[in-house]
Amino acid sequence: MSRGSASVLGVNAFSASAKMNPEVTCAWCGNPIETTGRGRPKKYCSHSCRQRAYEQRNNVSGTSIPADAVILHPQRYAELKDSLFELRCAAEDIATAATENASAAEMRQLCDELVTLARSVEKIR
Ligand SMILES: [Zn+2]
Repeated sequence: MSRGSASVLGVNAFSASAKMNPEVTCAWCGNPIETTGRGRPKKYCSHSCRQRAYEQRNNVSGTSIPADAVILHPQRYAELKDSLFELRCAAEDIATAATENASAAEMRQLCDELVTLARSVEKIR
């Protein structure tokens, strides 16, 4: 009987995690895409992103570079590395604040900063 209960629990846990629908983001730039719930889900946030993805597919065809490879300008890559460093610093600030028993309000503010930074890093191009 207990084995049966465990399996039911497992099913519930699975369906709960399946409900956590991740945000749909543009396959080109990583910006969030608003979903209407009707029709085919969009892959790109704008006509320009769709066009740039199409151009890249043409440019890399016949090479060993995957059609959907994320190719970054060196300057954009440098910015992204800086952002990732900022993100780590923000996470370390939270760890330090927790060790030092910071107030709930202070923790809340540090977490908000972390989320804002993380969102900016999601915009890849
Ligand atoms: Zn886009």
